[in-house]
Amino acid sequence: MKVLVLNAGSTSLKYDLYEMDTEASLARGRVERIGAAAAHVVGDTSVAVAAPDVAGALAAVLAHLARSDGPLASGGVGAVGHRVVHGGERLVRPVRIDAAAEAIIEECAGFAPLHNPANLAGIRAARAVFDAPQVAVFDTAFHAQMPEHAFLYGLPYELYAKQGVRRYGFHGPSHQYMAACAAEHLGTELGRRRLITCHLGGGASVAAIDGGVSVDTSMGMTPLEGLLMGTRAGDLDPAIVLQLARAGRTIDEIDELLNRHSGLAGVSGIGADFRDVQTAAERGDVRARLAVDLFVYRVRKYVGAYAAQLGGVDALVFSGGIGENSAMVRARVCEPLGFMGIALDGERNAGTRAGDNGGCTDVAERHARTRVLVVRTDEERMIAREVMRCLVGPTAAMRSVRARPIPVGVSVRHVHLSRADCDGLFGVGYQLARRRDVTQPGQYVTRETVDLVGPRGELSGVAIINPLRKETQVELARSDAFRLGIEPPLRESGSLDGTPGVTLRGPQGEVVIARGVILAHRHVHMNPDEARSFGVADHDLIKVRVEGDREMTMGDVIVRVRHDFALDLHIDTDEANAAGLGNDSVVAFDGVQAD
Ligand code: ADP
Repeated sequence: MKVLVLNAGSTSLKYDLYEMDTEASLARGRVERIGAAAAHVVGDTSVAVAAPDVAGALAAVLAHLARSDGPLASGGVGAVGHRVVHGGERLVRPVRIDAAAEAIIEECAGFAPLHNPANLAGIRAARAVFDAPQVAVFDTAFHAQMPEHAFLYGLPYELYAKQGVRRYGFHGPSHQYMAACAAEHLGTELGRRRLITCHLGGGASVAAIDGGVSVDTSMGMTPLEGLLMGTRAGDLDPAIVLQLARAGRTIDEIDELLNRHSGLAGVSGIGADFRDVQTAAERGDVRARLAVDLFVYRVRKYVGAYAAQLGGVDALVFSGGIGENSAMVRARVCEPLGFMGIALDGERNAGTRAGDNGGCTDVAERHARTRVLVVRTDEERMIAREVMRCLVGPTAAMRSVRARPIPVGVSVRHVHLSRADCDGLFGVGYQLARRRDVTQPGQYVTRETVDLVGPRGELSGVAIINPLRKETQVELARSDAFRLGIEPPLRESGSLDGTPGVTLRGPQGEVVIARGVILAHRHVHMNPDEARSFGVADHDLIKVRVEGDREMTMGDVIVRVRHDFALDLHIDTDEANAAGLGNDSVVAFDGVQAD
């Protein structure tokens, strides 16, 4: 199913189109300067279009996507996901948009006067042209479970109860995406991790995430609170506003001052773009330096505060234009945080840019207690995932994975024998008998089995897979190796240098092999057509997504391409058990992993 994600602003319309069966991105771009000299921008190319309003912009986007060689030429959009900034207290998860939802979004415009009306215009324009379900995904929703003590201001309680004056938090899809990436990287369920996520872009916020739930975040009732931002002041004493008003400034002027003329721009006098301010600071501009200092100081202050509230941190995550690209900011934020187990690997930090390593890089020192991750945020992908969850629920979303599934083959411990070793175990010239075929053509499990004898224990009745090979190879799961008392390395089949040996026992005798025991590196077999359709090549490393009770992503899956291979993910019994997978399971291709 194709999901179109729209982010309608007051003068721009951003779009991303995904094929959710594989989560492949089919197209992305934006229409800028809606209303005056509009342009459709895709990558580096910009084409003038007629777009007097958001409906006009959407028409231009549609014409582009539905062109004869475009991604919508053959099939329509299955659902449209809208990024909506404010959902207030009533829209706390993605919703299918109906009249009631629309009315609430309209009401919430009081909290987000610039954003919600523009988002609504996008919703209405899309409804006029798509006969597909529309889903709203809210910036505020991921923070909806913050406890009262985190979301209340120290104001009369009635202001909250009657007018909804409270902290809501923003950048939800980005914090949620960072948390998901961190959980994948840490190789555990999100449910057990304490994370601090820093979205540092033009707007910036930090969130404290405990067991997958956002328990505090630096933005408040509006996106003005918290960190120093490009043009926004962030935290300040509200008495300043009173003072400015008493001195004669109008409410609109103060609004303008706090939202558009403060932050990096206001302190430095240079501008809102961090790179410009940083360049000026490096040239010695005193106010530019101050602006950078303030920026870093506040990020660190929130990180420290949230670490205290969480009672520790497993990973600190950086994202957004500044978080992803500025090694200097990451280094300065982290420098005094050694007491929290944070220590950066200077070289890796300096060498890491947005998009490295498939979008998530660990820049902490290898032995540091707390991981520090740089994640290329992908809010639109997160929104597309949320659209699927909203429309079809987690179980049916799983069915979407099954639309282009990779079948799983669980590889139970087994042995490949050489002619000489087969002779030693079963008698000279013995012919092993076929019991059943395995998925790879020409290979079969034999009726005969062997016992393995190690220094600590034995495994009896271990399967043999024929045909015979040049050298005997024993493939175990890690728990098998523990039982035998040996420590085989993780290897590809056939790569046996430096591997330990073991004793094999058959009906006609014992054979001691000096090497040949491995833990098989997980891999996926496929033929060249399948490889082309996934966009991968032999020996690429890919990730696969596992859904179900033990949802996870497996990385480091080696692609093996051969004409006679059938599409099949090979994992061992330990891996299968950890992921809740069996021989009738499927997983989804989740992208190539950069090495
Ligand atoms: P927005 O929040 O507006 O979507 P981004 O997340 O793209 O924006 O972040 C924009 C900010 O990131 C700008 O302040 C820009 O200067 C900053 N940025 C981009 N690249 C770098 C870099 N290499 N070093 C420092 N800052 C950068």
